[in-house]
Amino acid sequence: MEKIKCLIIGAGPAGYTAAIYAARAEMKPVMYVGPQPGGQLMITNDVENFPGYPDGIMGPQMMEDIKKQAERFGTDVRYGTASDIDVSERPFKVTIDGTTEVLAETVIIATGASAKWLGIESEQRLNGMGVSACAVCDGFFFRGQEVAIVGAGDTACEEAHYLSKLCKKVHMLVRREEFRASKIMQHRVENTPNIQIHYSTEVDEVLGKDGVDGVRLKNNKTGVKSEIKVTGLFIAIGHEPNTKFLQGKVDLDEQGYILTVPGTTTTNVPGLFASGDAQDKIYRQAVTAAGSGCMAALEAERFLASVEHEVHA
Ligand code: NDP
Repeated sequence: MEKIKCLIIGAGPAGYTAAIYAARAEMKPVMYVGPQPGGQLMITNDVENFPGYPDGIMGPQMMEDIKKQAERFGTDVRYGTASDIDVSERPFKVTIDGTTEVLAETVIIATGASAKWLGIESEQRLNGMGVSACAVCDGFFFRGQEVAIVGAGDTACEEAHYLSKLCKKVHMLVRREEFRASKIMQHRVENTPNIQIHYSTEVDEVLGKDGVDGVRLKNNKTGVKSEIKVTGLFIAIGHEPNTKFLQGKVDLDEQGYILTVPGTTTTNVPGLFASGDAQDKIYRQAVTAAGSGCMAALEAERFLASVEHEVHA
């Protein structure tokens, strides 16, 4: 079975930054990119808050650049998703796509987080047929049309603003009477003439058979239902960590985020490190993910050095 010194699972800013550091430390990192290579930045438009880009950069471009940088130092980037891990002994046995098994002396988890859904039947049935969790990916298909977006965080504001440039009108469905987003993002949507904000409003049902032709709304204060005619519904209500394959193997919190020793990427399993959004529900930024990827690689390197030292002592 193939034996890997440093296995990196996930290919967002955390994974690639870990790869750059691990490769430069001659740990010959192997990376499995998972189902969304490049991570959440692949479905982001302009990244304006990553230091070093005074004019901003497109998310996918940034990920292309960071991948090149990781490969330049010898990272072996492979397609495949980690489906299981045996942490009962080192090297860890990691299963890729349910079939291939590899042994890894150290593992850096950088699997990130995925979009959440409302969970109603009509949303799932019309998923991909007018219902989407990515305005930047799918907004183009709704040019000149009327759409709705659910959520009141920074993502929902960013996506509503993006859609407002493409679409005739955007209905923003906010379940409380206030936003969760930062003030600057909130003001941006409030000041966009073709965004209409509906407070205390939830989706009762997505209407349509082979595509979306409307949304039935419910005012959660009055119980009053109403309908809007839209051809697209975007869901922007947050994310959950991609850590299901680690359940029962590594300590997770109640939401599934990997628990790390504060100020480190160390988990309860020696030799297994966690970085990026899979372990961070507070900051969740590309730059903090990259920072924790760097930390994970440095800690993995120190861990290997200490283990080798023990063997030779
Ligand atoms: P958040 O968790 O911040 O917000 C989720 C939003 O969805 C909340 O308004 C929440 O409502 C709403 N929501 C959740 N579940 C439902 C539901 N079932 N029905 C209706 N509404 C629901 O997620 P984001 O993805 O917006 O942001 C995540 C993190 O990323 C944040 O820290 C954010 O600041 C950051 N971010 C930063 C950006 C930037 O700086 N450019 C861009 C995008 C994100 P409620 O408020 O009632 O809980």
